Amino acid sequence: MQIVRISLREIHLPLVEPFRTATGTVTNRRILLLALADRDGAEAWSECVAHESPTYSSETVDTCWPAINDWLAPRVLGQEIATPQSLHDTLVRETPGHRMARAALEMGAWALEAERRGIALARLLVDASEISRERKTEPRTYVETGIALGMEASPEALVERSLEAKAMGYCRIKMKIEPHHDVEYVRAVRDALGPDARLSADANRSYALYQDYLGSMEELDRFGLTMIEQPLGNDDMARHADLQRRIATPICLDESITGVTSAEEMLAQDSGRMVNLKAGRVGGFTESVAIHDTCARAGVPVWCGGMLESGIGRAYNVALASLPNFTEPGDLSPSERYWERDIVSPAWTMDSEGRVHVPLERRGIGVGVDVARIDDLTVREVTLRAG
Ligand code: MG
Repeated sequence: MQIVRISLREIHLPLVEPFRTATGTVTNRRILLLALADRDGAEAWSECVAHESPTYSSETVDTCWPAINDWLAPRVLGQEIATPQSLHDTLVRETPGHRMARAALEMGAWALEAERRGIALARLLVDASEISRERKTEPRTYVETGIALGMEASPEALVERSLEAKAMGYCRIKMKIEPHHDVEYVRAVRDALGPDARLSADANRSYALYQDYLGSMEELDRFGLTMIEQPLGNDDMARHADLQRRIATPICLDESITGVTSAEEMLAQDSGRMVNLKAGRVGGFTESVAIHDTCARAGVPVWCGGMLESGIGRAYNVALASLPNFTEPGDLSPSERYWERDIVSPAWTMDSEGRVHVPLERRGIGVGVDVARIDDLTVREVTLRAG
């Protein structure tokens, strides 16, 4: 494969309702998209998952744009690329960081490869997974979907949201928590939804600067949660291991897992017993498949988290989550939960059992891209060409 054209587009995609974060309220999601074309005429769109602000990781839309435009894309254009995995290696040689920027390019190359071969991206991924080949597994045809609920002003308000989500069919409900905004909220939802509801809590590292977290964690341990996600700091495998020894609920690491090396470290130290796998965070699909396989061999489940992606990014998430060790529901909410109108056709939907269909019958990312809508939403654009 030889990539001969890479376009960078920034779009502002309107949300159904304002999305409140620690740094403010977002009404339009700023998204960086790539459009890639190879020498033989195959084309693919990909999405960079970086947010506007550096709260989840240090990368943002405004760090990824120059990382791709000035540095990575010029080093990829016109080069002979044997496999998407070899492109991953090339990009890692260029920089150890900028994982979300690297991932946008690398995942685009996976989609191009699927287009070239005339197969679904999910099929290409399962073929790339060593453990799937050994066990002769097929990609899933459906992926169970969970929902992540943001913080509410009262336990009653969170209960209301949880009941709505349950009625919509979501298979797992995840609640965002932070110190002093945790036990009462989780207890209220557990009481309202009953003992069988699959519930989890995500702290987004918010207990890292808080010395007295053990009491809260021990209380949360009593609610039968599927997992407690990333209570402590990104690089704190030791304290996560100490905490995991004290509670029965599996700790799920998200921000801490930046590649297969940190997944191996988690397994070796028992710092967590589940991984929230986001391809953008780990530099793309090559690393994601390696983490998937490593965790599968250790008997540790993974699941696919979300980064408020458009329908293009969601297509990549659905393909990844079709791998066999994605045994927990993914954050793969339908388009209508987030967007007034998505940029793909058909829009992503969820059935009454809370499942998303994996479009194995279609080549590439499995959905059409609404280029006219992307044109309307574009606020800046650059096209780079080989030679
Ligand atoms: Mg998380």
